[in-house]
Amino acid sequence: MFEGPLQDLIDELSRLPGVGPKSAQRIAFHLLTVDPEDVTRLQSALGAVRDGVAFCRICCNISREAVCRICADSGRDRGLICVVEEPKDIQVIERTGEFNGRYHVLGGALDPLANVGPKNLNISPLLQRIGGVLPDRELADSTPEEPRFDDAPEITEVILATDPNTEGEATASYLARLLRDFPGLTISRLASGMPLGGDLEFVDELTLSRALSGRLTL
Ligand SMILES: [Zn+2]
Repeated sequence: MFEGPLQDLIDELSRLPGVGPKSAQRIAFHLLTVDPEDVTRLQSALGAVRDGVAFCRICCNISREAVCRICADSGRDRGLICVVEEPKDIQVIERTGEFNGRYHVLGGALDPLANVGPKNLNISPLLQRIGGVLPDRELADSTPEEPRFDDAPEITEVILATDPNTEGEATASYLARLLRDFPGLTISRLASGMPLGGDLEFVDELTLSRALSGRLTL
């Protein structure tokens, strides 16, 4: 244990995901030795991420603009939506080069033990994109008062690409049930070959690329 600001910094760093006490100490000591300009840059980056990050009003991805780069890209297939848990999953799928549709970021997965229900995820905006708000009581009070998007009739397939673990599977089943009554909509799930119990982020590109191209219709 150290005294004063150094220990405060170590404590704060240790609270970050994936940073243990040892790494926190190493980062803190590193910051003591770097140029003041580097520290200032880090400071402003931290401030900017807190104040400046917005979400795409279509897909809920992190975006600088009201509509993200992917949603704004007219070269992408507007009929396809790939549903993922987190913005970082988009990077993973983009790296496969296998998907040319657009995304929808749920902001997590259903997890009753952690009190994460449908209301806590971006499910209502997904339903709006597809063409309607379901009269689902679980979602009723989370439906945002936003206009529907004009691309709704174009959407032909929703690929459920939630993580291949318990929460991800539960979320995919929930969405599949919710979406199956939309006429003309195909719902699919990443094919087998995905390591069970895992996180999409850690699946290698080839496996993910195969899982995408061999996706199963639900
Ligand atoms: Zn977007």
